[in-house]
Amino acid sequence: MNFEKVLKGLENKRDEMVKLCCELIGFKSENPPANVADIAYFIRDYFKERGFKVNTYEPEKGKVSVSARLDGGEGRRLLWNGHMDVVPAGRRELWSTDPYVGVVHDGKIFGRGASDMKAGLAVAMVVASHLSEIDARIRGGIQLDFVPDEETGGYHGTKYLVEKGISAGDACIVGEGTSSRVWGIAVRVAEKGILDLYVSALGKTSHASVPFLGENAIEKLINLLLMIKKLENKKVQTPLVVQKIIEQSVPYYEKIAKTSGIPAENYRTLFSKMTVNIGVIKGGVKTNVVPDYAEAKVDIRLLPGQDPEEVFSEIQKMVADSGIRGIGLDKDVALPSYENPDHPFVSLVKKCVAEITGTQQVNTIIGSGATDARYIRSLRGIPTVILGPGNESSHSANEYVDIEDMVTMSKIYSLIALNFLS
Ligand SMILES: [Zn+2]
Repeated sequence: MNFEKVLKGLENKRDEMVKLCCELIGFKSENPPANVADIAYFIRDYFKERGFKVNTYEPEKGKVSVSARLDGGEGRRLLWNGHMDVVPAGRRELWSTDPYVGVVHDGKIFGRGASDMKAGLAVAMVVASHLSEIDARIRGGIQLDFVPDEETGGYHGTKYLVEKGISAGDACIVGEGTSSRVWGIAVRVAEKGILDLYVSALGKTSHASVPFLGENAIEKLINLLLMIKKLENKKVQTPLVVQKIIEQSVPYYEKIAKTSGIPAENYRTLFSKMTVNIGVIKGGVKTNVVPDYAEAKVDIRLLPGQDPEEVFSEIQKMVADSGIRGIGLDKDVALPSYENPDHPFVSLVKKCVAEITGTQQVNTIIGSGATDARYIRSLRGIPTVILGPGNESSHSANEYVDIEDMVTMSKIYSLIALNFLS
């Protein structure tokens, strides 16, 4: 297959990609409530019309996944994954345009989800359709999974597809945005995990004028939360391969830090320690009543290589050692995950990025946020990278994507597919 021909063909698909991205933005797939049925059926029909094998799955009402397949017979299978849900648009007065109308201006597309990640969906759709149209003679196959509820944990989307054995392949690209206006395109190979901690404290009510007759649940909770917060001071030992990824990420984040006026040291700390955010706290009924109940939710970010169970046990021990009684602990976990940057698939992806962008040094980096890649890596062991159009404007008002970024990414995706499936 003539690569040049394939890549040239994509140049002519620029308008189609832009139009499709705008159409996808038009579907208000806000999460919550994560009802993505409309956009999912639109994507299903797109692939059906183009002769792909398409299946839909709906483990919970409205949380529809679409899986489209291009089959080239025997050979390796490349999996691509992207989410259809978006975070709410937020306060409208902060937007210069209607967030649910894709607006093209100054080489960019504006709208909620433009960057995270409807541009990614549009690029993957056009690339897959282009490869089937020109009869790229791929060996093996491509599977594209479009999923709901990534923004709230991916339980009914990627996790479901992975657990049911529907999402499968020899390598995977999760199409979240990895282009930076500051740095260019990076390949994300690792991400921190989350230990969501629920802490409750029981006490005993009494009149506030005689507090010794009661037990103040809020004070117990505060004392304990301050102990948990100290986990941030602990140096975390990560596997050697993760340290290598972090070292490569530091210059990337330092450059971002420089332009945003944030001390670069903050980023170094971010990838050598846990972060502890006390995000929710509730308790008490009245100032003159000693409260008998209080609760808090804490977000603890873990580094790749850390075992969430070990951290949770450490917190349980902290509670036991503190002597504070009436404490309840519970948790939800998003596993941290990573891919060896020396894996042949990562090398191939880096080579393709370098070739299309003309960059010598393509960085493999770690991200602070968790994505659906964790399910694909941890539950199925599929070598997975995160690579897609999209930038730092994700989740903010006036979110946008650069059209050039989309076209570049369409060429990178095509080159990866043609190389991996040749
Ligand atoms: Zn996303």
